[in-house]
Amino acid sequence: MANLFVVVYVSKRLRMRYSLPLFFIILLLLALLACNDQTTNNTYNGPLRVVCTTGMIGDAVQHIAGSKAKVRTLMRSGVDPHLYKATQGDLELLTAADVIFFNGLHLEGKMTEVLRKLSRTKRVIALADSLPSERLMRPSGQPHAYDPHVWFDVSLWREVVLVATRALAQADPIHQQVYHQNAEAYLVRLDSLHQWVQKRMAALPPDRRVLVTAHDAFGYFGRAYQAEVRGLQGISTASEYGLHDVSALVDFLTQRRIKAIFVESSVPAKALEAVVEGCARRGHVVAIGGQLYSDALGETGTPAGTYEGMVRANVETIVKSLQ
Ligand SMILES: [Zn+2]
Repeated sequence: MANLFVVVYVSKRLRMRYSLPLFFIILLLLALLACNDQTTNNTYNGPLRVVCTTGMIGDAVQHIAGSKAKVRTLMRSGVDPHLYKATQGDLELLTAADVIFFNGLHLEGKMTEVLRKLSRTKRVIALADSLPSERLMRPSGQPHAYDPHVWFDVSLWREVVLVATRALAQADPIHQQVYHQNAEAYLVRLDSLHQWVQKRMAALPPDRRVLVTAHDAFGYFGRAYQAEVRGLQGISTASEYGLHDVSALVDFLTQRRIKAIFVESSVPAKALEAVVEGCARRGHVVAIGGQLYSDALGETGTPAGTYEGMVRANVETIVKSLQ
């Protein structure tokens, strides 16, 4: 605005000749600026702003939304959602969002309060909470909790995609047809991924389909693809594990002569080192069979940086280590 006034006072002659038209131009500019300010503050006419917590959700929602929404994901590669706390930058994104998708079933345990408050004023959708309870698993010894790691059964994850599609269509009805078409194409890919995992896992002899990991993230994977699953910690990495848990796992691995266990990309590897040492003391060599992506995608731009790539990478690691 200062420049405008400099221009106005450039020369007395000019001012004499043009003062009246300039006065009206300035008035018009001021009115336009005021209008623009109001638009920024009160109404937003850009694409739908969507914020997702985990990478798996962000990837699914991006496939459904295509170019019709601006999708942001809070948790990057290697981040543990059980322990994640929203940063100041996250809070700003969440506050500006039109729709927020999170997993629910207490996966994002430290964000519960923030999400609950936001749900009073905007669409906040707990995707896994929306699944029928008969398709959910209860962890052993916890009759009142559900296992949140639903993305490991691809046929269950497709149901999550349907819930997200309906929510996007409701939030942005103008583009609902695009959302439904995009979802349909993505579901075809997920169905073929599910069949691929079934086939790859079936190639392993049944007694070798044993998945031992740092925490109990693979329950749905085990149920869907007929694998026995054991974790050192419970379904949340926020739970503690003790000497008893280590020795129970050592007993299991030694008795069953299991040759490999797996570290997880979002859980420190040291949790399983005591188990490997315990087995060695009992004369049973167990190898770290590789790293599995449990609660976070791989780095963006790498094959495991997408949901489909993550599932494929995990299955290849499991099959290679246990066959
Ligand atoms: Zn987990």
